[in-house]
Amino acid sequence: RAKTAEPGTVAFFDAPMHVSALRRTALANELDQGLRENQFELQYQPIVNLASGRTDRFEALVRWRHPERGQLLPDEFLPSMEDTGLIVQLGHWVMAEVCRQLVEWGPEVVSVSVNISDKEFWSQDLLTRVLATVGRHGLAPDRITLEITESVLMRRPELALRLMQKMHEAGLRLHIDDFGTGYSSLETLHRFPVDAFKIDRSFIRTLTSSDNSVELISALVKLGKALGIAVVAEGVETGEQLEFLQEIGCATGQGYLFMPAVAGDRVAELLGHSLHAEDSSQTL
Ligand code: C2E
Ligand code: MG
Ligand code: MG
Ligand code: MG
Repeated sequence: RAKTAEPGTVAFFDAPMHVSALRRTALANELDQGLRENQFELQYQPIVNLASGRTDRFEALVRWRHPERGQLLPDEFLPSMEDTGLIVQLGHWVMAEVCRQLVEWGPEVVSVSVNISDKEFWSQDLLTRVLATVGRHGLAPDRITLEITESVLMRRPELALRLMQKMHEAGLRLHIDDFGTGYSSLETLHRFPVDAFKIDRSFIRTLTSSDNSVELISALVKLGKALGIAVVAEGVETGEQLEFLQEIGCATGQGYLFMPAVAGDRVAELLGHSLHAEDSSQTL
């Protein structure tokens, strides 16, 4: 109907599209410039042993120090980077930066988890490239843990399995991220050479309000034990959630209760201390 109306109407319908296309191009240019000008930064969130409160592993989370808009979180720019393919370049930078940090921190940091995007995971040279970067820094491959979301894996489970087998044989650690949201079958899951799966934050969040998630999380922890796969609970925010997870024997967790992601230079002071809330006075 708009097309047959008078020219002014057509312009009216076209304008928003034009503007959003311009915005996308502008953002893509900014992202590209951001990469060239080193505006990205990694922060690290501890992965905590729930029994002891101690940590020796961290997840790297990217932030963009935007020259005008301040610090931006991944949800604000990663989707565009996926669209434009810039995510692959960002991934190169992230891996190199994590390796540099690991060398600086030394062997007390056992492994750092790096999130792998959809595009990166399916790219031909991911494994070669990661191994080259790790090797160039003189690190063993198991110092790097790749986090791949369940929904990415489930798009092509058979191919994903083959790719992950190669990564596993090369010595990289593998975690399934956002577990419970991607509808993988048990049959598929137990064949994957993964070291851990991370129970999606949405299940932890509804813990106290929903019997369903109590049952589900308990089942996932049992499943992990049966398969010999570690389980990490994401998004632990309250003492109540921690208690429940401890009761059912969930070994590890991450969340604001312990600590949000922090700058790399704060990591050394966290090693060897308990991050349990009640111990926080002796921690920091
Ligand atoms: P993710 O891998 O599932 O990371 C966990 C997210 O939950 C992080 O958000 C983290 O800051 C947040 N979080 C941790 N504890 C809590 C908590 O107790 N409560 C709540 N509400 N949130 C918590 P962030 O840093 O905004 O990252 C969002 C997503 O962006 C990540 O989800 C990951 O998928 C992606 N991402 C982050 N960094 C990278 C990266 O370097 N490369 C790629 N490809 N993706 C990344
Ligand atoms: Mg992750
Ligand atoms: Mg996650
Ligand atoms: Mg997530």
